[in-house]
Amino acid sequence: MVDQNKIREAARLLLEGIGEDPDREGLKETPERIARMYGEIFSGMDGDGREELSKVFAVENSEMVLEKDITFYSMCEHHLLPFYGKAHVAYIPDGRVVGLSKLARTVEIYAARLQIQERMTGQIADAIMEYLAPKGVMVALEAEHTCMTMRGVKKPGSKTVSTAARGVFAQDEKMRDRFYQMLHLS
Ligand code: ZN
Repeated sequence: MVDQNKIREAARLLLEGIGEDPDREGLKETPERIARMYGEIFSGMDGDGREELSKVFAVENSEMVLEKDITFYSMCEHHLLPFYGKAHVAYIPDGRVVGLSKLARTVEIYAARLQIQERMTGQIADAIMEYLAPKGVMVALEAEHTCMTMRGVKKPGSKTVSTAARGVFAQDEKMRDRFYQMLHLS
């Protein structure tokens, strides 16, 4: 749980720090708004996907399941600026599958905290391996980092791609190739 009082105080100081008057008309509600907003965008701090990934259905086959283009928004821990994009999550079931919305929900939980993209990619893969226990997991994230596009090197539209492979996807290059093939079907 975030401490909304602290965030309110910090937001006021931040406004003063950039030379603003936090008491002027347009800014009066801003610290309060930021405190509520941070409660929402950091709501995944304590979650791990265990609950979501435990609602499973038995299946016979073990064909790849791919949920692609899961939109996510996260915050980079180096600049406290958003990075956002798409997550693609695939797994090979080992006798059970999970509702598709639960994969998106798992992405959301790991996005709703301070992150770096590479760690988030690995955490999603590890959570699915641990709680759903499939034969393998492959996660790919592609994201635009506003700390690179609106400041610094200013390369609008540039994307950072990261992947994490576990189980059969880590062991077998052909499985990774199948993931990329399925990803590019539309
Ligand atoms: Zn950054």
